Amino acid sequence: MLLEVQNLTVSYGNIEALHGISFNIERGEIVTLIGANGAGKTSTLLSLARLTRPEAPMVQAGDILYEGKSILKTDAHMLIQNHLMALVPEGRHIFGNLTVQENLQLAAFSYRRNPRRAAIFSEAQELVFDLFPRLKERRKQRGELLSGGEQQMLAVGRTLMTGSDFIMLDEPSMGLAPKLMYEMFRALRRLNQEKNITILVVEQNAKVALEFALRGYVLKTGEIITSGTSEELAANPEVKKAYLGG
Ligand code: ATP
Repeated sequence: MLLEVQNLTVSYGNIEALHGISFNIERGEIVTLIGANGAGKTSTLLSLARLTRPEAPMVQAGDILYEGKSILKTDAHMLIQNHLMALVPEGRHIFGNLTVQENLQLAAFSYRRNPRRAAIFSEAQELVFDLFPRLKERRKQRGELLSGGEQQMLAVGRTLMTGSDFIMLDEPSMGLAPKLMYEMFRALRRLNQEKNITILVVEQNAKVALEFALRGYVLKTGEIITSGTSEELAANPEVKKAYLGG
């Protein structure tokens, strides 16, 4: 098993946002975690990536096993440094005053002491440009001048530059026009099929998430209420009513 989340709780002060959730991901899978506003999706991803919200420390209990070993005491930068996982955060957070290429370059920092860094960088960049030709066309353009969809592509590209084969995405469909959204998910599926990259995607947009992932979990106010294959979830009356518009 690549990732096993065991009875994870996350609290902000005396507010408990996650009440002990458990789920797992095998290497090579595409899994989704769907849930409405405030269900605890971002808290889950931040906890897995060992990040915390700048405005409020998260107190966590339970366990997160990566290939059988607990990472609860591991620093976020160690996960990146060792190419274990990378997060595409909500809101993208790319550097607006740097070009596309500079944003990508910066993301490959974990290879800075590697004697093969130039070759590794150009291979990874080629992969990103192959997946997202728009980024190649705009490689000298500053991040802030990209459209929302292009910024999302850059945020995904940046995680690929880390060399991680497990990527997590926080609401990648947010604010994207349908065409760009499907372009993004097609690229992610290619990554999974051709590079065996494992993907965890959290989404409020259950329809697109269940089309994209093979399996999923439904998170409701800090608890996982149901799970199953995407077909099972899409046919589940409760999921249909609450997340798929009836
Ligand atoms: P959204 O889709 O709106 O981003 P989410 O599913 O990602 O929501 P979280 O952002 O993880 O949900 O929030 C889960 C719960 O934790 C919510 O009830 C939220 O109000 C609470 N919460 C988040 N951040 C804090 C904080 N800094 N202080 C107190 N409560 C917080």
